[in-house]
Amino acid sequence: MPHRICVYCAASQRVAARYLQLAEQVGVRLAQAGYELIYGGGDVGLMGALARSVHRHGGRVVGVIPEALQEREGIAYELADALIVTQTLQERKAIMFTRADAFLVLPGGFGTLEEFMEVLTLRQLGYHHKPIVLLNYDGFFDLLLQFFAHLRRQHFVPARWPFTVASALDEAFALLERSLSSSADFSTG
Ligand code: AMP
Repeated sequence: MPHRICVYCAASQRVAARYLQLAEQVGVRLAQAGYELIYGGGDVGLMGALARSVHRHGGRVVGVIPEALQEREGIAYELADALIVTQTLQERKAIMFTRADAFLVLPGGFGTLEEFMEVLTLRQLGYHHKPIVLLNYDGFFDLLLQFFAHLRRQHFVPARWPFTVASALDEAFALLERSLSSSADFSTG
């Protein structure tokens, strides 16, 4: 059974082209590595660019989308190998979380941040030990990481963060590969 990577990323269409290109590159790498993509099921923004790229390169795409979003014309990626339609947003997040072997976070907005915060909180509390990789492409998450460092200095969060930061695509996939091929706890801080 191939490893399943859950990717959280932007739905916005208005972002700079380089972010959409990044999502496409991630799609190429997922397909080449033989990882199955699990994601929010949208055909918009980085999500759409990612899913289409995985398919173009021969990979498998599983989308998990709430009914209300699917009904909005043109949003769901209907070509997904499996499109799981849920009643609620909570149910959707639970399915994505349960099916995934690892999480990869790309640039995104509130939705992406919320999904990232949820899986990292669950990991911190010991509900899972699945790897979480934040792709800090072009320093996109620098401000967030600075805030996390502030939280650490003030002892609001543990010294060891429950996720790993990669600054480039190669590093992100090396981390995923390493963590998926061993059961070792690879989190850093
Ligand atoms: P955002 O970062 O606010 O653009 O939200 C993107 C994240 O929230 C994705 O990882 C999705 O799981 C979810 N999401 C937000 N908007 C949509 C949409 N239109 N279709 C599918 N999923 C979405």
